[in-house]
Amino acid sequence: MNYKNFETQAVRIATSSSDQREHSAPLYLSSSFVFDSAEQARQMFADEIEGNIYSRYANPNTSDLIEKVCAAEGTESGITTASGMAAMFGSMASLLRQGDHVLASRSLFGSTHQLLTRIFPKWGISHTYGDISDIDKWEELVQPNTKMLFIETPSNPGLEIIDLEYIAKFANAHNLVLVVDNCFATPYLQQPAKWGAHIVTHSATKFIDGQGRVLGGLILGKKELIDEVQFFMRHTGPSLSPFNAWVLAKSMETLAVRMDRHCENALKIAQYFEGNPEVEVVKYPFLASHPQFHLAKKQMKHGGGIITLTLKGGLSRAKKFIDQLQMISVTANLGDTRSIVTHPASTTHSKLSEEEREKVGILNGLVRLSVGLEHVDDIILDIERALDQSK
Ligand SMILES: *Cc1c(COP(=O)(O)O)cnc(C)c1O
Repeated sequence: MNYKNFETQAVRIATSSSDQREHSAPLYLSSSFVFDSAEQARQMFADEIEGNIYSRYANPNTSDLIEKVCAAEGTESGITTASGMAAMFGSMASLLRQGDHVLASRSLFGSTHQLLTRIFPKWGISHTYGDISDIDKWEELVQPNTKMLFIETPSNPGLEIIDLEYIAKFANAHNLVLVVDNCFATPYLQQPAKWGAHIVTHSATKFIDGQGRVLGGLILGKKELIDEVQFFMRHTGPSLSPFNAWVLAKSMETLAVRMDRHCENALKIAQYFEGNPEVEVVKYPFLASHPQFHLAKKQMKHGGGIITLTLKGGLSRAKKFIDQLQMISVTANLGDTRSIVTHPASTTHSKLSEEEREKVGILNGLVRLSVGLEHVDDIILDIERALDQSK
């Protein structure tokens, strides 16, 4: 049966049950799978027939997760990875070769920035960053050897939004593979492939798990491209553990209801702090004051679970504020049931120079708030008290 709606697909698409007739997907902790015959083994290795061979290639639990997320994203094929970074690395390393050039949005996750600036140059792969404010001038940044366009929208932590429809047309006009890191939006809020992205990557560690338990990632897209990615990933080995895949596939079943509440809480908090004199800037994609508010409305279902607050008093104020929080956790993760505060300039983005950080709006006073599933009044109370006591 074909299910039309996101929620039903996420819940009902599941690996077929075994002859134990279990209702909930079992955990397949098996590194390899048995062949009926030598001939069947040959056929599976030759790709003449489909089937599980070895868990570095595929496992019923990773296949289950891929099927659920592909349905959610509207993509044909995919592969799971050990972490989000394995997905970011794998999407680039499998499709690029020595001498290629990547055009990327400047606002990227810290480790993705390390890949482009420190790791890929070792293999002769170069990059140029484009600023979102100058997106109409990106034509000038395309080089004869540019092969890929890599973007994040909304970006971490700046919450910059890129027009997916525009950027997909741009990529096609220049024959570039468009890769979108869709981690912040999740497949529930935004489906880049529907606007024309060729590859969608995820850190499933964040909202897809949603409960701060396991690492994981996904690379999704058209079968033709994913076949190439699969070849690279299967032979280099950053595979997702079946256990993590099982946890993440279960989490997909509740993604929609969780995201609805994350977003509802985040919007209320953003609105509440918009007029606060201790807060210089509140940024949230669904606040009318967000510079790309209309774009966010066009391509996202809700505004997401992340807010940034820039506090009066810069770095020392931000640190005092964080130390005064009583409930909200101070940790580097995001997309958890528990609200989390992070100071990107001194943690997740500390490897960038001050100048690089300024260019992407990661000011010293900026704090990133990942809004959890506690009662919104309790989250506001904790922030309010900490703002007050950090004056
Ligand atoms: C966390 C994150 C990653 C990396 O994911 P891991 O699962 O931590 O490896 C990549 N991109 C974005 C936008 C992220 O927030």
